[in-house]
Amino acid sequence: MSAREKTITEFMIEEQRRYPEATGDFTALLNYVRLACKRISFIVGRGALAGVHGSAENTNVQGETQMKLDVVSNEIFLRTSEYGGHLAGMVSEELEKPYHIPAEYPRGRYLLAFDPLDGSSNIDINAPVGSIFSVLRAPQGTDRPAIADFLQPGSQQLCAGYAIYGATTMLVLTLGRGVFGFTLDRGFGEFILTHPNLTIPTETHEFAINVSNERFWEPPIKRYVVECLAGQGGVRGKDFNMRWIASLVAEVHRILIRGGLFMYPKDSKDASKAGRLRLLYEANPMAMLVEQAGGKVSTGRMRMQDIVPSELHQRVPVILGCKTEVERLERYHQEHDQGLDRTYSSPLFSERSLFIQN
Ligand code: MN
Ligand code: MN
Repeated sequence: MSAREKTITEFMIEEQRRYPEATGDFTALLNYVRLACKRISFIVGRGALAGVHGSAENTNVQGETQMKLDVVSNEIFLRTSEYGGHLAGMVSEELEKPYHIPAEYPRGRYLLAFDPLDGSSNIDINAPVGSIFSVLRAPQGTDRPAIADFLQPGSQQLCAGYAIYGATTMLVLTLGRGVFGFTLDRGFGEFILTHPNLTIPTETHEFAINVSNERFWEPPIKRYVVECLAGQGGVRGKDFNMRWIASLVAEVHRILIRGGLFMYPKDSKDASKAGRLRLLYEANPMAMLVEQAGGKVSTGRMRMQDIVPSELHQRVPVILGCKTEVERLERYHQEHDQGLDRTYSSPLFSERSLFIQN
């Protein structure tokens, strides 16, 4: 054996040794999160054989159709994580209110927010799905956390990560000192460090956006996409590629591995929603990972991790990835808000489609 393989447990122990005041509590908590991800990975891998494909014929608190695997994954996350005694409470995409740790288990100092299965629409077509999680500190003396206890800005996260269940299962993690990717060795069931210090390149020619929403976008987003589509002959002076996997985990994973930009901007499709993705268990954990990898995450108008949440299931616009591209989009928003980009903010432009010449 040339270089010694490092397991995720060994990685966590080494992190712990660097901080003599660490109690090991946190390492233990992550052991349970990782176990939940392994259990979900196993079921996702069995696919139709596990009898968990298809709709659960139910809608969640946010009015979305639940797939059977959404429900199963949520149960796995709750049952696996509640046991260890490290958590004061949990918040899940699939639950309306905070989850309280059952009386038979000890309580701990941390809060866990998670999306048990991201990219549900990908399950039945055998495309990548994932789980996203974020760890916050519980306010002191809290053993039945209220909604307000979870409403902390992303900058307060102690740890964030996701598991991606694709051709291989990987766990990607940050403890606030870089981003590390671990690949599940299915032979002996352990995550091995395979991607130390993931970093996002500062240049890219790839962007991802759901173009079918084009007519609902704000002018700064239209401006950006028009310029990308113009390619080499346009103001950007280079050709771009477009990507869209319809799973946040898969989009962020691609960007952490080879760079790029992902947008799910605010749109006018449903005026009651500020965006599509949820702040606490989608946007914030991804923001911590992407920033730790040298990228940037913004709403277009402010840094994601600076938002003080007002609701558990709050939705936000998300612009994420390559630093220089996110900064460009922030500038376009600013210029639009100040009335400085006449071409793109004119009603004539807003009504014109990028794809249909009229
Ligand atoms: Mn999701
Ligand atoms: Mn989900």
